Amino acid sequence: MSAASATPSPCSYRHEHFRDTLALGLERGYTFRTCADYAAKGPVPEQLLAVMRHDIDLMPERAPAMALIEAELGIQATYFVRVHANEYNAFGHETLAILRDLVDMGHEIGLHAEPLDLQASAGVEPVRAIRASVAALEGVLDVEIEGVASHNDITPDNNLDYFRRTPAADLGLSYEAYDDSGLDLFAKSHYVTDGHFWYWRTFKGGELTEDRSCLCEHFDARRAPVYALLHPHLWFAKHFQRVNH
Ligand SMILES: [Zn+2]
Ligand SMILES: [Zn+2]
Repeated sequence: MSAASATPSPCSYRHEHFRDTLALGLERGYTFRTCADYAAKGPVPEQLLAVMRHDIDLMPERAPAMALIEAELGIQATYFVRVHANEYNAFGHETLAILRDLVDMGHEIGLHAEPLDLQASAGVEPVRAIRASVAALEGVLDVEIEGVASHNDITPDNNLDYFRRTPAADLGLSYEAYDDSGLDLFAKSHYVTDGHFWYWRTFKGGELTEDRSCLCEHFDARRAPVYALLHPHLWFAKHFQRVNH
């Protein structure tokens, strides 16, 4: 089923609806760009812009299905990977193979950093941790890591605080996902994110709104630019409790 058809799939976190949502975005005229591409080249005034970002907080095994849907539609997205997760090992055989597949599909890989958590948990100095993580990812993936993203609301430590006082450029990176220098998109976009107690949230001008619209509704209304954060571990083929189905 394509979103351009009369009966697109109902809103859900099913892969089918992800595909329909992206197809609708393409049909409405959006141009999809990676974070790195937007950070490097900035806005193009006449473009209906969408940037698809994915934080692999958990369950990297759920990333390939979404990455493949994007690739099949000619869309390149940005996947941020943790290297200090207790829940998965980015350098283990299975996950590393997944990450290399994402690169082969044309997607960007960034670092999902948690410097304040790591400093508190293990005493590692943040600059050292970030530089080591970037070097390790670059080494095994044979790509340049240009960007970093942090989470602030699933841990006690607000890792974004670190990047508010340490510009990405100081770390040899092009951008941080919420900055107003390297990427400069969060505060200037409709920032749409899944998964907060099962409803969508939209930030406008950097501020949380009451808007609970699904990403497909933003695309349908041609709101722009759209900066979407979707967490692959929340999306599924048939049922949330089935890992790969
Ligand atoms: Zn929807
Ligand atoms: Zn996260």
